[in-house]
Amino acid sequence: MIKTHTLGFPRMGAQRELKFALERHWRGEIDAATLEATGRALRQRHWAQQREAGLAFVAVGDFAYYDHVANHVQLFGCEPARFGFSGDEPALARYFTMARGVAAEAGAGCNDTACTRAHHGSASLEMTKWFDTNYHYLVPEFNAATRFTLHAQRLLAEVDEALALGHGVKPVLIGPVSFLWLGKSHEAGFDRLSLLGALLPVYADLLKRLAARGVQWVQVDEPVLGLDLPPAWQQALREAYEALKTADVSLLLATYFSPLQENLPLACALPVAGLHVDAVRAAGELQAVLDTLPAGRELSIGIVDGRNIWRTDLDAALGVLRPALERRGGRLWLAPSCSLLHVPLSLREDAALDAELRSWLAGATEKLDELRTLRTALSQGDAAVRAALFAARSATHGRAHSPRVHNRAVAERIAALPADADRRGAAFPRRQALQRARFKLPAFPTTTIGSFPQTPQIRAARAAFKRKELSAEAYRDAMAQEIALAVREQEALGIDVLVHGEAERNDMVEYFGEQLDGFAFTANGWVQSYGSRCVKPPVLFGDVSRPKPMTVDWTVYAQSLTPRPMKGMLTGPITILQWSFVRDDQPRDATALQIALAIRDEVVDLEQAGIGIVQIDEPAIREGLPLRRALWKPYLDWAARAFRVSASGVGDATQIHTHMCYSEFNDILPEIAAMDADVITIETSRSGMELLRGFGDFRYPNEIGPGVYDIHSPRVPGHDEMLALLRKAAAVIPPEHLWVNPDCGLKTRDWPETRAALRGMVAAAQAMRQR
Ligand code: GLN
Ligand code: ZN
Repeated sequence: MIKTHTLGFPRMGAQRELKFALERHWRGEIDAATLEATGRALRQRHWAQQREAGLAFVAVGDFAYYDHVANHVQLFGCEPARFGFSGDEPALARYFTMARGVAAEAGAGCNDTACTRAHHGSASLEMTKWFDTNYHYLVPEFNAATRFTLHAQRLLAEVDEALALGHGVKPVLIGPVSFLWLGKSHEAGFDRLSLLGALLPVYADLLKRLAARGVQWVQVDEPVLGLDLPPAWQQALREAYEALKTADVSLLLATYFSPLQENLPLACALPVAGLHVDAVRAAGELQAVLDTLPAGRELSIGIVDGRNIWRTDLDAALGVLRPALERRGGRLWLAPSCSLLHVPLSLREDAALDAELRSWLAGATEKLDELRTLRTALSQGDAAVRAALFAARSATHGRAHSPRVHNRAVAERIAALPADADRRGAAFPRRQALQRARFKLPAFPTTTIGSFPQTPQIRAARAAFKRKELSAEAYRDAMAQEIALAVREQEALGIDVLVHGEAERNDMVEYFGEQLDGFAFTANGWVQSYGSRCVKPPVLFGDVSRPKPMTVDWTVYAQSLTPRPMKGMLTGPITILQWSFVRDDQPRDATALQIALAIRDEVVDLEQAGIGIVQIDEPAIREGLPLRRALWKPYLDWAARAFRVSASGVGDATQIHTHMCYSEFNDILPEIAAMDADVITIETSRSGMELLRGFGDFRYPNEIGPGVYDIHSPRVPGHDEMLALLRKAAAVIPPEHLWVNPDCGLKTRDWPETRAALRGMVAAAQAMRQR
C-alpha cells in the first residue's frame, strides 16, 4: 500500500558517459547508432538501479540527449518552421540542430544583422533556466502557425525497452499547460495559451497509446502550479485535465519547487488519479493537502530533497509521514521532492570527500535508498531497518554538532556586527568626488570585466599542475607570465582601469570556495547544466570564514607592473551562494552573510595593500529571485545587504565596482541601486542599450558601464558600432556617469579578436571625449 517512485533521474552516467558520447558524436567521431547505444545502456543501468531500490516503477521519458523540454518539442511535432526541416532528416539530427543551431556558411560576409538568409545560419532554440534551478532548458517557440502532431516513436520505444526488461513503467511527461507556459512567442499579440485546444488531442492520443501498452500510471508534471498563475492559466489547467480525464491511464499530477498556495485547492480538485507535492519546499502545506485532497486520490509526498545533497533526517521524515499515512488510510506514495536531475548521481564513494563528510551527503542513488528505508519503516516498523535508521541518525546528529560545521568565532562576529556594517562612510556624491580626485580618470573611462582569454596554454598549465606534473613554483611562474602579458596588452591598448586577467582562476566560485573554510569539493559530483555541459557545484557545509587573503598577492603583483589603477577582482556573496549546494540547517540569508564577511575581509586587505578599486561580481543576483513574486522583496533586501556588507569595510576614496550579466534588471532597479556600488557594469550590447533606458528612467544614482560589445560572439564589432551605442547610452544616462567596457569577461575569446575589439572600444571612448 506504500509505493516509492522517482520523478526523474540523472542522465549523464557515473562517468559522464553521455557527455563524452555526445561530444564525440558532434565532432563526427561516432555515428548516431553508437550514441544511441550509449543512451540505451545508461537507461538500462539507471532503471536497474531504480528497480533494485524497490521503486514501484522506473521513470521513462526523463532521459534526453540534450534536454527533456526539447524532447517534447519533437514529441508534439512542433519544431519551429524557421529551421526549414524537410522532414527527411533523421529526428536526432533535427533535434541537435534545434539544440545547437546551424553554423553560418563560411565567408558569407554579410553585415546586415536583420538579414535572414541561410548564410547567417539558424540560431538554436533559446536557452533559459528551468524554474529556479541551474538547469537550462530549450525554449519551445510558438506562433499562430504552430501545429501539433504526435511523434511518439522515441518515447514509445523507450517504454518498450523498459517493459521488455520486466520493469514497472511510469512514463514522465511535461503537462500541457506547463509546456505552453515554458514556451515563448515572438509574434506580437499572440497568446500561446490559445494553442491549448490544439495540443490536448495530441496528449490524449499519446495517453491512449501508452495505455495500449499496458502502462497504468503516467506522471504529468505541472510545476506551474507553484507559480503566480494568471486566472486564464488556472482555467487552462481545469480545461486540460477535464479533457484528459477519460484516458485509460491513471494520471499522477506532479507539482514541485514551490508552495501551491492559492493554487492548492485547484491542484487538489483537478480530475486526476493522484497528486505529487513537494514536502521539502512546501512542507507547511502538507496538512492542507491532506485536508483537501479527495479520498479516492493517491497522494505522493516528495519527502526527500531533490534539490540538495544532504542526507535526509529519517526520524523527522517518519514524523511527517506516519500521521499522513494514517490520514490516507494506509495508502501513500513516497518520492523525492522533484526529479533527481538536480543532484549528482552518487556521493557515497566520492574520492575527494572524507568519510565523515560523505556520511552527511546523499546523491540520487542514496536518495533512492532513503526512500526504501522510509517505506520499510512505515510498513514493517522501525525494527526492520534499525541499522539504516541508526546510521542516518548518527549522521544527522554528527552534522548538527560537528565543530567542522559550527565555528564559534563566526557566530560571535555576526552577533557583534554593528548595525551600520552595510553602510559606506559617506553617501555616493561625496565618494564620487573623492574618487575622482584620487584616480583622475578621463571622461568615459575604459575598463574590462575581469577575465582575459583562458588560452590553451593556461588550461594546460593548470591541468599539469593538478596532475602534479608541474610544480607549484612552475605553475605560479606560468600564471605570473600570463598576468604580465595581460597587463602589457591593456597598457598597449590604452585602457584606463586595468585587471589582472584571472589566468589563475579555474572558475569564479570554485577559486574562492577552495580557499574559504566551510566549503568542500567533490571529485565526481556532476550535475547537468545544459546539453552535454555539467557543473560540479561546491558543497557549502559549514560556517564560512577566510583563513588568509585569497587574491592579494596576485593583485599586488599585477599592480606592481603598471602605474595605472589595477582593479581587484572578487566574486560576491550571492553568486557564491547561488552556484553552490548550500546548508539546509540555516536560512540562506544567514549563509550569505557569512560569505559576505569573508569577502569583506578580502576587500579590506586589498585596500590595505594599496589597491584602490575593487570589483565584486554578482552575476547571479537576478537568478536567485524566488519563484513567487511576493518573496522577491525580502530576498532582494537580504541579498543587497550581503553585498553591501562585503563592500563597506573600505574608505570613501576606494572605489567599489560590481558586475552583472544576464541583464533584465528593470523590475528590480531600486534593489540594484540599494547595493550602492560606486560603479556597476552590465550586459547591454545585445539589446542595443535598450536595457539602459530603465536605468535612465529610474535615475540610477551611481556610475554605470553599459557593455558596448557582445563577448559571446567571436565577431569583432566596428568602432563606429560601439560609438553609436555609447551615444545612445549618453542620451539616457548623464555622460559623466558613464564607463566604457565590454558586456562581460573575455575568458572564452582568443587574443586576436579581443585585441581588435578592445582597440575599437578605446577609440570609441576617445571619440566620445572629443565631443
Ligand atoms: N569577472 C568575471 C569575468 O570577467 C565575471 C564573469 C561573469 O560575470 N559571469 O570572467
Ligand atoms: Zn558577466
